[in-house]
Amino acid sequence: MATPTKVLQTDETTQVKTINEPVWVRIGYDSGKKKIIVSPDPFWVEKGERVQWFCDLPHDPPKLHDDSCFEIIFTGETPFEIGKFHGHRCDSGRPKAAANKDKLYKYSVVAGDPRFGSIDPQGGVKP
Ligand SMILES: [Zn+2]
Repeated sequence: MATPTKVLQTDETTQVKTINEPVWVRIGYDSGKKKIIVSPDPFWVEKGERVQWFCDLPHDPPKLHDDSCFEIIFTGETPFEIGKFHGHRCDSGRPKAAANKDKLYKYSVVAGDPRFGSIDPQGGVKP
């Protein structure tokens, strides 16, 4: 059967492409503790990789995740070209800072909806 073989090859091609997937950082909400949560904290990105922050906040009323979900602000140094990003699936671009497993960069995640508040996680560039 030729067709199933072709499908399998397509899957393998797709998996090779996913090597370039970003490091995903989830912005969520702990409804018990009533606070915004970020995972992983800290994130670690390799040279040549990039970070994408995605929104998993339980918006009320429900809405599609978009640019207004949250802001990412590196308050001091940023390991990236810029220090501010916003919205669901915002992309950091590749890090410009040198890899350093002992250095962490502080940033703030500020939810667009003030009920969720904000949190100050960290991230770094690993060798
Ligand atoms: Zn959202």
